[in-house]
Amino acid sequence: MDMGIKGRTALVCAASKGLGKGCAMALAGEGVNLVITARGADALQATADEIRRATGVTVTAVVGDITTPDGRAAALAAAPQFDILVNNAGGPPPGDFRDWDRDAWIKAIDANMLTPIELIKATVDGMIARKFGRIVNITSGAVKAPIDILGLSNGARAGLTGFVAGLSRKTVAHNVTINSLLPGAFDTDRLRGTAIGAAKAQGKTVEELLEVRKKAIPAGRFGNIDEFGAACAFLCSVHGGYITGQNLLLDGGAYPGTF
Ligand code: NAD
Repeated sequence: MDMGIKGRTALVCAASKGLGKGCAMALAGEGVNLVITARGADALQATADEIRRATGVTVTAVVGDITTPDGRAAALAAAPQFDILVNNAGGPPPGDFRDWDRDAWIKAIDANMLTPIELIKATVDGMIARKFGRIVNITSGAVKAPIDILGLSNGARAGLTGFVAGLSRKTVAHNVTINSLLPGAFDTDRLRGTAIGAAKAQGKTVEELLEVRKKAIPAGRFGNIDEFGAACAFLCSVHGGYITGQNLLLDGGAYPGTF
C-alpha cells in the first residue's frame, strides 16, 4: 500500500532508540524527511546515519531535551514546516504516590502532557492552513488500564489523552488528525530498565522476570519497534484522514476487555 506521504516532513521526538526510532524509520521508509531529537548526541547521530543509509531521506538530528522550552525551540527551528508530528519523551519513574512531591508531578506533567501540547500548539495551525497534518502521541497502555507503580504516567498521560480528545474533533475538518498509540510491553531499553528493579525485588534475574512477563501476554512475546512504527506510518498516511481522537492499543492482547 502506498502511504501517499513521500516528500512530507516529520518531527519525531525522542527518536534515537526504542518506539520513537521505530516511528522514524517507518516514516522514512515511506519517503518522509525527518527531524529527529534525543538528549544523547552519539546515539542520535548513529540513528540518523542508519535511517539515511536505509532510506535515502533527509534526516536532521537535533540534540536536546524535548521537555524543555529550548529543546522544543531547537527541534521546531530545524525545518520550515512540519506535516507530521510524533510526540514522544521518556516516561516518568515508577514509585509510590506518597513519595511524590509537587516537583515530581510537575516534571511528569511537563514531559508527558504539556510538552506534546506545546508542540501541537506550535505546528497545528500551519497544518490546518495547508490542509494536511498528522499528529501521533506515543502514550501508554496505562491510559486504558492503569499500572499501579506508574501513577505519574497514569495521571499525566490521561491528561494529554483528554485534551487531544477534544482538539482532534476540531482539526479533522481540515484533514489534520490527532491520535495516540498506546504501547503495551515493547522490547526496548525502557522495558529492560524498568525490569531491573522489579527483578531485584523478586530475587530473579532480569531474563527470568522478562520470561514471566512474556508468558502473561496472549501473543507470548514482546512487541518490536518495527511493528510499532508501521502502525504509526499508517496513522500518518493519506489513508488515515478519517481516524482521529483514537487511542490505539498495541499490546499483543494483554488488555483483557472487549472494548
Ligand atoms: P527508550 O528508553 O527505549 O527510548 C527513549 C528514547 O527517548 C531515547 O531515544 C531517548 O534518548 C529519548 N528521550 C528520552 N527522554 C527524552 C527527552 N526528554 N528529550 C529528548 N529525547 C528523550 O523508551 P521507549 O520504550 O521507546 O519508550 C518511549 C515512550 O513510550 C516512553 O514514554 C515510555 O514510557 C512509553 N512506553 C513504553 C513502553 C515499552 O514497553 N517500551 C510501554 C508503555 C509506554
